[in-house]
Amino acid sequence: MTSSLPDLVDPTAIQEVLDGRWAHVRRDARENLDDPDFLPVYGENVPEARERVTRAAKKLADSGRVGYGFPREYGGEDDSGASVTSIEMLAFGDLSLMVKAGVQWGLFGGALQMLGTKRQHEKYLRDVMSFDLPGCFAMTETGHGSDVQQLRTTCTYDPATRCFDLHTPHQAARKDYIGNAAKDGRMAVVFAQLITQGTNHGVHAWLVPIRDEQGNPMPGVTIGDDGAKAGLNGVDNGRLSFDHVQVPRDMLLDRYGQVAEDGTYTSTIENETRRFFTMLGTLVRGRVSVGGSAASATKLALDIAVRYGNVRRQFAAPGEDREIVINDYLVHQRKLLPALATTYALHFAQSELVSTMHDVQSVDEIDEEKQRELESRAAGLKVAQTWHATRTIQLCREACGGAGYLQENRLPHLKADTDVFTTFEGDNTVLLQLVAKGLLTGYRDAFGSLDGWGRVGFIADMVRETVLERTAARALIARLVDAVGRDDEAPMLDRGWQLKMMEFREKHSLEGAIRRLRKNSTSEGMAPFDMFNDVQDHVLRTAQTHIDRVVLEAFVAGVDRTEDPAARKLLDAVCDLYALWTIEADKGWFMEHGQLTAARAKALTATVNQLLKDLRPHMTTLVDAFAIPDHWKAAKILEEESDRQEAMAARDAEVRAEAEGNQASGESATDLEVAPAQ
Ligand SMILES: Cc1cc2nc3c(=O)[nH]c(=O)nc-3n(C[C@H](O)[C@H](O)[C@H](O)COP(=O)(O)OP(=O)(O)OC[C@H]3O[C@@H](n4cnc5c(N)ncnc54)[C@H](O)[C@@H]3O)c2cc1C
Repeated sequence: MTSSLPDLVDPTAIQEVLDGRWAHVRRDARENLDDPDFLPVYGENVPEARERVTRAAKKLADSGRVGYGFPREYGGEDDSGASVTSIEMLAFGDLSLMVKAGVQWGLFGGALQMLGTKRQHEKYLRDVMSFDLPGCFAMTETGHGSDVQQLRTTCTYDPATRCFDLHTPHQAARKDYIGNAAKDGRMAVVFAQLITQGTNHGVHAWLVPIRDEQGNPMPGVTIGDDGAKAGLNGVDNGRLSFDHVQVPRDMLLDRYGQVAEDGTYTSTIENETRRFFTMLGTLVRGRVSVGGSAASATKLALDIAVRYGNVRRQFAAPGEDREIVINDYLVHQRKLLPALATTYALHFAQSELVSTMHDVQSVDEIDEEKQRELESRAAGLKVAQTWHATRTIQLCREACGGAGYLQENRLPHLKADTDVFTTFEGDNTVLLQLVAKGLLTGYRDAFGSLDGWGRVGFIADMVRETVLERTAARALIARLVDAVGRDDEAPMLDRGWQLKMMEFREKHSLEGAIRRLRKNSTSEGMAPFDMFNDVQDHVLRTAQTHIDRVVLEAFVAGVDRTEDPAARKLLDAVCDLYALWTIEADKGWFMEHGQLTAARAKALTATVNQLLKDLRPHMTTLVDAFAIPDHWKAAKILEEESDRQEAMAARDAEVRAEAEGNQASGESATDLEVAPAQ
């Protein structure tokens, strides 16, 4: 079969689609972020890395690129989409700097902005933006990271002193892993249980000074250092404990809950759980940024592996005197191309998420339903992108052989630094539960939170019907799906069929999970915890299938937006690969559920292989379109390997020429064959 793809596709036409709504932010970063301090330095120790990253954070603040998301009146741009996009761009550089920036301006500054009030913004935001006030986001405790509603730190109001008493009651309640705590932080947004007039009103946040101007801990504050980590060693993660620290009343970030001088508590959100999750929901930008940053690291790893695979040669085909470039091997394509296709799919899903987040957060009165959907989507895509990063960076490391293991070739750094993305800003497994709960209508209305599974009483009316909400380009997707004829005859490249398969899997999985939950809820004597725990794997799988479908829909919408005909054709084929490869990866399930016959399953693998062949000539175009400036890559392999291969090719040519000369004079050519490079 010959490929129907154009021979040449202009990568800038694809780049234009990828750059999307915040193209100006991406352009600015590519053109102006060129400080060597922003790139990883190989071989530096922990203190050196921390020093450099602190210096770089200050330079970043001075460049004015950290303020996109903050209000205009303090020098920002009120543009949360631009703020996430700029973090994504920063993530092509040293990931420690990206995380340090995320802590300072995303978490610390973001909490002050979202949970604080005008008075507090007026007093602190400018210094936060300029990095004159380095700060921390101190939520996690040694004992509680995922279930943060159960934090043990207390902050008790005393009307006599008009202060809160902030206290760490035991070792497991100390704040742990806190970015900026070990070295730089002067203030922290500390999350603790708010107690006043003898009543606990749940977790709230306070601004708490932790170091004085000289860098010494404030009275009652104990600061520890988490020390060297598996990666991100430029970030000073540390521990904080509080021994009856007096916090003035006006340091409570009181947008969602206020305490009057006499200790009376008020809030516009009565339900404590709802209030807590509303507060957390406003901080969704952090989660969206982590997903987008994981995607940038993945693109960089693929850029390196694809370019290396274009020049690296191993083994010669029989009768050929030149060895084969490794990108020509089918199994190598099976590694890199589906990963590339998934990266494209996730890029479109992320762009849509950032756009939705920007629009939801740009209005004065936030729509609660839209906010819930946003949180669920942000959780799902954070999971998809960070797990994809972990898998793909490892795969790219292997695709570069031994060279991929050398620090100077960037991949070890990418691997070590992104590893924890699956854990911070919400552990991926726990986030999948949040996605799943969003799918169970009724649960979402009743709780919509990250709390445990163990609450009963809502199961009976949990789901009335399972209608899948279509996401991107609803009308287009409905049209494609409706146009599919008999499933077992539809061509595999029919986009409607691909979408239908994904929809079927999600719907079937969701209905099965609900059936099992219902059955458990009517089982005599089954403990509430067991009712859910018994189906947890099924429920999480449902969340995963939901994410796969949403991502495919975003890709379909992205292709539809592409105007350049050649770029559109190429993206269409990449989208086919993403869809078919995802179906192929789960073909056992589709066969078990009557969606694929054995013959069609074989045809599916053959179609994927044909797509790989068709896309092989476009691998470089697909990474070119990421438009990662060369000076950001910091991978020696890219400079050296092509030089080495050129030198080898020149030497081969010389040897051949000499052999031809010798043959003419009667000598054997095989005496002069070149051994493969080791
Ligand atoms: C480098 C780094 C930087 C960080 N920076 C900050 C920061 O600046 N500020 C801050 O507040 N925090 C920070 N954190 C903390 C981070 O957010 C937490 O580590 C994370 O939320 C996970 O919590 P945990 O470590 O307690 O893990 P746990 O919650 O104990 O999870 C351990 C395991 O249990 C599983 N698990 C938990 N609950 C369930 C369940 N219900 N069902 C099934 N499985 C479950 C998880 O999937 C996981 O595999 C940072 C962490 C790291 C490592």
